[in-house]
Amino acid sequence: MKKIAILTSGGDAPGMNTAIRAITKAAFHYNLQAVGIKDGYDGLMAGRFVNMKYTDVDNIIQRGGTILGSARSPEFKNKEARKEAIKNIKDAGIDGLIVIGGDGSFRGAKILAEEVNIPVIGLPGTIDNDLYGTEATIGYDTALNTIVSAIDNIRDTASSHKRVFFVEVMGRNSGFLALNSAIASGAESVLIPETITNIEALAKQIKSQNKGRRSSIIIVAEGDEEGGAMDIMRKIKPHLEDFRLRTTILGHIQRGGSPSYFDRALATRSGIMAVELLLDGKTQQMVGIKADELITTDFKDAIGKHAIPKVEKEELLGKLLTL
Ligand code: ADP
Repeated sequence: MKKIAILTSGGDAPGMNTAIRAITKAAFHYNLQAVGIKDGYDGLMAGRFVNMKYTDVDNIIQRGGTILGSARSPEFKNKEARKEAIKNIKDAGIDGLIVIGGDGSFRGAKILAEEVNIPVIGLPGTIDNDLYGTEATIGYDTALNTIVSAIDNIRDTASSHKRVFFVEVMGRNSGFLALNSAIASGAESVLIPETITNIEALAKQIKSQNKGRRSSIIIVAEGDEEGGAMDIMRKIKPHLEDFRLRTTILGHIQRGGSPSYFDRALATRSGIMAVELLLDGKTQQMVGIKADELITTDFKDAIGKHAIPKVEKEELLGKLLTL
């Protein structure tokens, strides 16, 4: 093995740069040439490859986003389009590929690995934490911290009586960000896709909470079955006529920012392991973390099974979200 390529794909996440740095440095350590592919699968199909120099990864450990660029590349789902990608991989003499992205990216990586005769390893890079086979994805911890500090700010201004704030957070169809930011910010309630949302029951709960309370903060996962924060506010309004309702959609601030210690350590450790897995001839595996140990999961399980947040955490903890 002489050349390994790296690409970042799908939604960007803090810590992707840290992973690119770790992979590039590990490649140099093992006398491999690291090749950066620009803009995810788009760049793979267009042949936008750069040989990484040691200096290319200076001062990026702390930067959010991805220096390689990322893309949503629907064209890559086409077999004909992937033939271009395979030709480019062969022409560039690439012997192994590391894909940093979410479950969509691994679906693409799995198909590619079956069509091209080189090993492919995945690193979970997404703020959503929705991949099976890891307790944490790269970017999740940073996004949680960003969300919690935004909710703290909202709480500061929520001084008026009988105000209810619906704060929408990202996570696609997964409630990890919502549930855990609600716990850490002391929110009064949380709505996530994994549980049934009952608007009337929520209204009742808010009314009882507000006896003597100054404000309520309700975290809404963007993928909740009853809709986002705007939909929830519209649906609950007739049940909460005495209350002043406010909505905040945190949006893309959740994706940016300097990666936390946790994400930097995770990205660095798993980046090194990804290179070592390629050297061992392993393929179609995702690197994850469990009880502080790095583990691997086959792509088919990482994308085929669902990661579900532990909704029923400890009993009292669960109750704190509704008292
Ligand atoms: P994420 O990786 O964050 O889940 P997406 O779902 O947008 O993001 O997936 C990223 C890219 O992965 C897609 O734009 C597409 O190029 C590729 N991809 C996703 N699903 C498939 C698939 N079934 N076959 C081939 N490529 C896929």
